[in-house]
Amino acid sequence: MRKSLVRVVQEKGIKDQRVLKALEQVPRHFFFEKAFLEQAYQDKAFPIGEGQTISQPYTVAYQTELLEVQPSDKVLEIGTGSGYQCSVLLQLTPQVYTIEYNEVLYHKALKQFKIMGLQPHTYLGDGSEGLPQHAPYHKIIVTAGAPIIPKTLLTQLTIGGKLVIPVGDTGVQKMLRITRVDQEEFTKEEYDNFKFVPLLGKQGWK
Ligand code: SAM
Repeated sequence: MRKSLVRVVQEKGIKDQRVLKALEQVPRHFFFEKAFLEQAYQDKAFPIGEGQTISQPYTVAYQTELLEVQPSDKVLEIGTGSGYQCSVLLQLTPQVYTIEYNEVLYHKALKQFKIMGLQPHTYLGDGSEGLPQHAPYHKIIVTAGAPIIPKTLLTQLTIGGKLVIPVGDTGVQKMLRITRVDQEEFTKEEYDNFKFVPLLGKQGWK
């Protein structure tokens, strides 16, 4: 089932073989509520409780491809949710920091990581301001829709580091990739439109 999901995602345009392999390695049904278990290998987002969702596999692959994760990268994920995206990132680098705002989901994800023997650095809190105590990061991925590009996230990138973030109103967001060229200079690339749950917190939606 994982192999056929990978084929679907590949047919939709994901090319990076390392990303496709990472997707194939992670059992997505581990992150599902019982009611949706049989649909775990569909290329769709599903509810995970608390009004939140596990992202569509294509979206996970899309953001991961844009991040261009290298094995020595330190990566920050904002919005742990079910833990699925984080588990995919852990196939590409052992240094993954992930932060979740919702306490119930945070504890659920912790339990899941333990069951799977995965060891990301997990935090409960407002990730719209990043995770300054462990900055800088080579890569930052935001898995909720932001109203703006939070400036604090830009300052937490290494030179050459990349931020992948969906930005726009709550109905639709454009996927952006920001690269830190040097201390003060950044480039911005625009990609496809997506629909994410809102990024909450100080730099998110009120
Ligand atoms: N990456 C997740 C996965 O693989 O299941 C999907 C995440 S879901 C689409 C978005 C998540 O972002 C939700 O769990 C939500 O609680 C979280 N979130 C929203 N605002 C946040 C914030 N300011 N800091 C951290 N997490 C936040």
